[in-house]
Amino acid sequence: MSGTPRYTMVVDTKKCVGCKACVLACKAENAIPDGYCRSWIVEEIRGEFPLLSAELRSERCNHCTDAPCVAACPTGASHYSDGGTVIVTRDKCTGCKACIASCPYDARFVHPEGFVEKCTFCLHRVRRGEQPACVEICPTQSLHFGDVNDRESEVAQLLAARASKVLHEEAGTNPNLYFLV
Ligand code: SF4
Ligand code: SF4
Ligand code: SF4
Repeated sequence: MSGTPRYTMVVDTKKCVGCKACVLACKAENAIPDGYCRSWIVEEIRGEFPLLSAELRSERCNHCTDAPCVAACPTGASHYSDGGTVIVTRDKCTGCKACIASCPYDARFVHPEGFVEKCTFCLHRVRRGEQPACVEICPTQSLHFGDVNDRESEVAQLLAARASKVLHEEAGTNPNLYFLV
């Protein structure tokens, strides 16, 4: 028994090669206009030469369990949906940007048509029983998606077996985007 589902993405920083196929697949799947992205790649270099190490992270909205963007939204456009996924209802969004100011992850932007955009965990695909577009396209299987409350799920098993971290834990948002390190 898994109880209430909690959709979670697990990103394996040890497998990612920074090819950006995930970013491009997301743009195509979700018809994101030129110049904008719902996901992005961060390359973090640590140490001092010659003892350098790099971490590649495929980042997007963290679908936070305690999402400040949902609390900040005055119209209810930003809300929780299946598996705790944070969604924006376009025709309720006034483009006021209160959610953008509240997000510690810079995960949102204003679409040229005036509503706020961000990653949806590709819920339209997940509801059809498919994986998010970025997960499906990744050539190195760096991205994993599923219900972390189901102990048998791949994401739960990866998090049980490997060291992981979340970003901006201090912000107290309880993110659902984990990075295997
Ligand atoms: Fe990394 Fe996979 Fe994205 Fe390529 S598609 S950048 S390997 S997460
Ligand atoms: Fe909201 Fe930002 Fe958390 Fe996404 S990452 S749920 S936009 S606070
Ligand atoms: Fe884009 Fe879907 Fe991946 Fe989110 S889950 S980054 S919307 S492809």
